[in-house]
Amino acid sequence: MFPNDSLKYWFKGKGHWSNVSDKDWLDWRWQMKNRIKTADGFSSFLNLSKDEKDGLKFAENRLSVAVTPYFFNLMDPSDSNCPIRKQVIPVGNESVYKPEEVWDPVGEESDMPVPSIVHRYPDRVLFLVTDRCASYCRYCTRSRLVSNAQGYGFHPKIEAGLDYIKQNSSIRDVLISGGDPLLLSDEKIGGILSSLSKIEHVEFIRIGTRVPVFLPQRITSSLLNVFSKSANLWLSLHVNHPDECTLLLKETTHKLAKAGIPLGNQSVLLKGINDNIDIMKSLIHRLLIMKVKPYYLYQCDLIKGSSHLRTDVQVGIDIIKGLRGHTSGYAIPQFVIDSPNGGGKIPVSPNYTTFERDGSIVLENYAGQNYTYPSINNSAASFIE
Ligand SMILES: *Cc1c(COP(=O)(O)O)cnc(C)c1O
Repeated sequence: MFPNDSLKYWFKGKGHWSNVSDKDWLDWRWQMKNRIKTADGFSSFLNLSKDEKDGLKFAENRLSVAVTPYFFNLMDPSDSNCPIRKQVIPVGNESVYKPEEVWDPVGEESDMPVPSIVHRYPDRVLFLVTDRCASYCRYCTRSRLVSNAQGYGFHPKIEAGLDYIKQNSSIRDVLISGGDPLLLSDEKIGGILSSLSKIEHVEFIRIGTRVPVFLPQRITSSLLNVFSKSANLWLSLHVNHPDECTLLLKETTHKLAKAGIPLGNQSVLLKGINDNIDIMKSLIHRLLIMKVKPYYLYQCDLIKGSSHLRTDVQVGIDIIKGLRGHTSGYAIPQFVIDSPNGGGKIPVSPNYTTFERDGSIVLENYAGQNYTYPSINNSAASFIE
């Protein structure tokens, strides 16, 4: 159970879909078929604000709109400021493009040796295996290709990607992403994992997925079976707000952990959604209860039409400062900026240290008190006589 919670986090039921059979509700394909995608669809369950109606008018040309019934139930139908709503229902500001915003905010296109591979770091690659997601996050970094709303025409080249990895013996780590890899069939996922496992130099495989959050029904016993055959597989989830931590998600992460899959989480810092210490603390505590290690907190990328969701970098630094020392070290993610123009992920941290002229270092602890750690060269030794 999650401590100190209102009823919401206990949510396990069918909500607006109480007339649907349990069998359908727990069937991930039923959830996918019944996603809410239009203003009319949303309006049958909640009152759209004018801003949301405006957003829904043109969003389809930027990034598809789709919300699974399961995730839809986590929204507050009477509050358009609901942190769940703001992640998946577009608003008018999506059509506002700032000069610093681009379609490829982290410069992936220039690091793609073959169409499905982004090879930026010496020992690891990003392997894009699909352009589909269970629901679409409005701040998506890969809006240019995900959902094909802009006609990018992304066709994952799985065989070519596997060949590239096979031929480059420096690659020891493969991050499978997209789109969401867990929307592929069990056979396809199993095929990719077993092909990678056969490559001797690949020692670590991760899948980046938000499916457990949008569509926990997808984590079936047969998928768990596929996963458990892969000795070196980890999962990176994407949970942004404590309201996403439902009992069903917790059961799902516990099943994954039991199948031997270590779990990490990547959150995006989002304005009006999770940009304060209390919400972030509640999120990371729940993640620990769910056996998930908070891995990264991302500064929101400079994707076109996302300025209404971005905060200043300082907000993230202050949040980390408000967490470090105040709660379990295990709960604290690394705050990073995935830098514009392809510089990769760069850590951004509060400053706890001042170097003195004599080489010693003054350290500030979480409570604001100072401590000095001396330079190794600068202390006069005393000898036992
Ligand atoms: C994020 C990312 C990785 C993985 O980076 P880690 O810091 O190891 O999690 C690898 N390749 C690309 C292109 C990435 O964007």
